[in-house]
Amino acid sequence: MDLLKGIPVSSGIVIGRVFVLDNDLTRVPRRRVTEDQVPEQQTRLADALAVSVAELERVYQEARREMGDEAAKIFLFHIGMLRDRNLIAPMEKAIADERYTAEYAVSSTFRALSDRFAQMGDSAFTTKVNDLADLSERLLKHLIGERRAELDLAQPGTVVIARDLTPSQAVGFNRKNIAAIATDLGGRTGHTSIVARALGLPAVVGCQSLLAKAISGQMVIVDGDSGRVLLDPDEEQIAQYKAYIEQEQTYRLSLRDIAALDSVTRDGVGIEILGNIEFPEEIPMLLDLGATGVGLYRTEFLYLTQPREPTEEEQFESYKACVEALAGRPLTIRTLDLGADKYTQERADNPERNPFLGLRSIRYCLRSIPMFKRQLRALARASAFGPMKIMFPLVTNIAEVRQARFLLNDILEDLREEGIAHDPAIPIGMMVEVPAAAIMASSFAREVDFFSIGTNDLVQYTLAADRTNEQVAAYFTPMHPAVMRLIREVVKASRRHDVPLSCCGESAGEVEFALLLIGLGVRTLSVSAPAVPNLKRLVRSVSITECERIAKQALTFDSDTQVAGYLRDRARRIVPEAFDGRAAE
Ligand code: PEP
Ligand code: MG
Repeated sequence: MDLLKGIPVSSGIVIGRVFVLDNDLTRVPRRRVTEDQVPEQQTRLADALAVSVAELERVYQEARREMGDEAAKIFLFHIGMLRDRNLIAPMEKAIADERYTAEYAVSSTFRALSDRFAQMGDSAFTTKVNDLADLSERLLKHLIGERRAELDLAQPGTVVIARDLTPSQAVGFNRKNIAAIATDLGGRTGHTSIVARALGLPAVVGCQSLLAKAISGQMVIVDGDSGRVLLDPDEEQIAQYKAYIEQEQTYRLSLRDIAALDSVTRDGVGIEILGNIEFPEEIPMLLDLGATGVGLYRTEFLYLTQPREPTEEEQFESYKACVEALAGRPLTIRTLDLGADKYTQERADNPERNPFLGLRSIRYCLRSIPMFKRQLRALARASAFGPMKIMFPLVTNIAEVRQARFLLNDILEDLREEGIAHDPAIPIGMMVEVPAAAIMASSFAREVDFFSIGTNDLVQYTLAADRTNEQVAAYFTPMHPAVMRLIREVVKASRRHDVPLSCCGESAGEVEFALLLIGLGVRTLSVSAPAVPNLKRLVRSVSITECERIAKQALTFDSDTQVAGYLRDRARRIVPEAFDGRAAE
């Protein structure tokens, strides 16, 4: 049995079977398979070689047509290499003798050969190093692609274990057979974690060395509440976790009763609890759990789930579906927030050096005006069917808001001329998720109709801690006094200028932090669906005066650990049931 500890990011416990997804071409871990899986690995290797040769033959013919015989020869050389027994035999041997996976056999054999070539000093050999890298990548792509295809056919109860997963991979998992995920990399507020929560897929990230230890087919327990992953658990552990699963189901059922109750504090102040969604289909579940609308619809997932930009019509249908599903309830749709950890394939192929500080969100949209306009037009058309607000992400400059508003006005004008129905006064808001926006909130308040604080990015940019990096997870905390002070400034500006304010970062769903937000003056919280019931329970158990007292005290501390300890203690007293379950272990 191996016990690994990671970051719990999506709650729930699953007892299932491992499916290792080595999807990183540049780092293939040394992994072994069981004796009976050896023939399967040999077949996988043979298939990958055959498919790659067939592919290269097509490339060769094409190259001959376009570049002539001489230039196309390089592909003949590649084909020759993939047929060379001197190359194939060591790979087969690595699988047979060492029980390595086909992926590792390929990468280690090619690496050894390329090291040898590089050391020869003769340029005829050193130039071949690139050819080898090219061939190894081609083989690995097939092996990995084939594993992804296998995943679609996996048995129910499959637990995907990978070094890292992109948000679009997580979205693509078939919930019928994929029961949980666990990865070596990742952070609590990375978008893969957010997607896991949205899908109700128990998940642990940041396990650091899980991939190297896991073997496909092995039994595994993923505990998305405590962050534990148990490989090859014993009978006793399985029995213990089965009991936990039952306990958890009872607790979840008990939360159902709260969904229909009002979200008001003990002293009668209403706290609006909205939900964050990635897909319109999440709305019914969100309403079922007691949310009263959508405070953040992350539209970029429309772009991440298909290989091309969705058409205006496709977007219109999705936005309209949201408006209709909400039937008059609040709906805030955020414009495209692509970039950073959310790439389209095209951008993934041309990575930026530092994508979190790069061309993301509103910046990217303002550089891709035709695309941005297609989205704005689809949104404006959907606004004819019910209330809707539009929100811009990652705003750092006033000019960005003005330019975006200008584009929207242009579109509204077009629609008017074309006689297409729309709301002529759609409220326009912005995310406050960089320190620049928080500090300048008073100036921005004159430009927008509402604010929404995004703590995921605000914490990341204030504390210089990458939200997707497990190595700095301890730095990444909304409890840092600097973050609290920035939020306090935004609340003040919103009150002074009478601009409605909400908070839609993941932390808004954590009871300790919600206490603080309410105490600081935030009255609308938008959170992922699973967090709604607990949050409502908290709201109904506190008074505003109590929250204000707590916030005032929290602001006196100068370290995040003090703040966290203090808030946890307070929250425990107010809603012990949110902690007394297994999650509090
Ligand atoms: C945030 O940054 O807090 C936020 C809500 O947006 P996202 O998580 O999509 O970046
Ligand atoms: Mg953000």
